[in-house]
Amino acid sequence: MRLYLLFAIIFGRLFFGAAQDNSPNIILMIGDGTGLTQITAGMYANGNKTNLESFSTIGLVKTHSSNSLVTDSAASGTAMASGVKTLNGVIGISSRNIKTPSILEYSKEQKYVTGLIATSSIVHATPASFYAKVTSRKKYQDIALQLSESEVDYFIGGGRKHFTKRDDKRDLLNEMSDWSFAKNLTAFDEATKGRVGYFTSNDEPEKLLDGRRPALDEGVKSMLKKLTSKENTPFFLMVEGSQIDWGGHANELDYVVSEFLDFDKAIGVAVAFVKENPDTLLIVTADHETGGLGISSGNIKTFTPSGGFVTSGHTAAMVPVFAMGVGAEQFSGIYENTAIFDKMLKVLNKTP
Ligand code: MG
Ligand code: ZN
Repeated sequence: MRLYLLFAIIFGRLFFGAAQDNSPNIILMIGDGTGLTQITAGMYANGNKTNLESFSTIGLVKTHSSNSLVTDSAASGTAMASGVKTLNGVIGISSRNIKTPSILEYSKEQKYVTGLIATSSIVHATPASFYAKVTSRKKYQDIALQLSESEVDYFIGGGRKHFTKRDDKRDLLNEMSDWSFAKNLTAFDEATKGRVGYFTSNDEPEKLLDGRRPALDEGVKSMLKKLTSKENTPFFLMVEGSQIDWGGHANELDYVVSEFLDFDKAIGVAVAFVKENPDTLLIVTADHETGGLGISSGNIKTFTPSGGFVTSGHTAAMVPVFAMGVGAEQFSGIYENTAIFDKMLKVLNKTP
């Protein structure tokens, strides 16, 4: 009888161990340049509501880089992706000149599937922080080459030209033989290969106000379908609302608000996913604030915010973090942006 029990346990582990032992999915959403004022402006302009109100765990992040109080997206992206502070402009290499593995790469070691989606080019600093190691964020062709050799399984974003019109004359899309490349979101949905990319534009995608498609929430829906298509395989997904930052650089409040609302709808999709799939950690944060936006006036009847900016660059203000799902409680408090990586890694390794 005891022997029978022992066999039952061993067989149980062998056949059902993977399913019982599933690690949680991780969705990290980064609103580039999205400080508390960008959120506030978007919320009021949206009739005084945002999907961020459904989060109960909220924290604040210190965003400084290793050489500046005011970070750029490369240093901050690296801090969140890899847990190290580095110099502004550097991706995936610490200030001590050590190449650092990213959470996406760690997740791959745990047999995760991985996806990236951005409303900038896919080689731009924020998404690149999850797969590239370069001394300058401007080395787009090097970053594209590293994406072609990376552990990313699915991506949606702009920047096709960095793969096809290159100084080294290589056509990386031809070289990426286990990939298929979709021309639109339907083709992305229907692609059957294990790895799928969808270039939304040849260069940087246009702004939403000029008609950018697909909307980020539609892209995230398609991504989530792809990432959940392999049974008993958890995923890591990074979603970037890239152009909230560009609206801040342009000091255009309507640009900021429209891009935030595109991002907010995508947050709504992710929140709904977590409700359906509780074995998921969802984090929404920013890499830094852009523009030093202040809402100094507005219309209470229509909830129309107005105000001004103090710079065309970034600021050093702390940025909020919102978390829900597995391990979310770790994200309350005030901490360095590098701790986002540490907390995600704990969830990945299931260590308390
Ligand atoms: Mg960015
Ligand atoms: Zn910026």
